[in-house]
Amino acid sequence: MNTRPPQAPEFSLIDLIARHAGQRADVVLGIGDDAALLDASAFNGQQIVICTDTLVEGTHFLPGTAPQSLGHKSLAVNLSDLAAMGAEPRVATLSLTLPTAGSAWLEQFMTGWQTLARSYDLQLLGGDTTRGPLSITVTTIGRVPPGEALMRESAQPGDLILVTGSLGDAAMGLIQRRAAAVSDDRLTEQLDQPQPRVHFACQARASIHACIDVSDGLLADLTHILDASGCGATVEVENLPISKALGAVAGQRLARDLALTGGDDYELCLSCAPDQLVRLQDIASSLSLPLTCIGKIESLSGLRLTDAQGQPYHPGRMSYQHF
Ligand code: ADP
Ligand code: MG
Repeated sequence: MNTRPPQAPEFSLIDLIARHAGQRADVVLGIGDDAALLDASAFNGQQIVICTDTLVEGTHFLPGTAPQSLGHKSLAVNLSDLAAMGAEPRVATLSLTLPTAGSAWLEQFMTGWQTLARSYDLQLLGGDTTRGPLSITVTTIGRVPPGEALMRESAQPGDLILVTGSLGDAAMGLIQRRAAAVSDDRLTEQLDQPQPRVHFACQARASIHACIDVSDGLLADLTHILDASGCGATVEVENLPISKALGAVAGQRLARDLALTGGDDYELCLSCAPDQLVRLQDIASSLSLPLTCIGKIESLSGLRLTDAQGQPYHPGRMSYQHF
């Protein structure tokens, strides 16, 4: 008599995930046992950097978002945190809460995940799979040479403030999608497929003082650097990096406000000594990544926004708040 119990749907989903994930040589035990086992060589004697993020349907992404985008984005937002620390990604875990055991959905999710994971040689080690309202929790673990991690507290008066890429595109993409309006692919791509700035951060970290990734809007995230570093700043709004795509659909005021307060950019905001600017620009241009100086760190506390005439600028909306 065959006493083997029928396989629960959860396990065929885990098999599907394991097939996509593969197994890198330094993984002693990957998906399938009670826990994963990793050779310390994965970290090469460096410091270990760990971060985690949860995406909840209806809060962090619209219901009906393409699963391939979710696979990409749930990993990308984590890698953006590692980038903000100057860390190189190594391994990840993935905890999925799914309303149904849909393998077609999961195939596409894993395709989006693995396409990004492979580009960083990032290994999925394990996770958890449960039933419930759609929610995705990802933990990524990376490495950084001792003493080289980028922290929020290291900005100094006189530093320049730089941002990678452009700001406000994802927020405009979300407005277009919510309105079911004709959307510009360049904007919705920023929303669905943000590119974490890992390569830039790893190459540039020696020239950077403080760093944060812009996830809740530039004003909110730059304020975290200022609070942690005990300084203030002036940002010149005419220097904000507004993409052609955003400029084409939004007036100047909306574009600036989205750049200042829209969420989901996943660009880096950093401070550096002025004599490091040329080196940082060289690294950015070798990666075809725009890098823009938007202002200066000052000893006077508070964040001041000025327009082209040097007059105070007041944004029309506030940054994303979680509660
Ligand atoms: P346990 O009951 O011991 O928690 P699970 O059935 O949850 O075991 O998981 C079995 C194996 O599958 C473990 O190695 C776990 O890490 C892996 N796993 C479960 N869900 C996922 C997932 N969403 N992504 C990657 N690995 C997963
Ligand atoms: Mg489990």
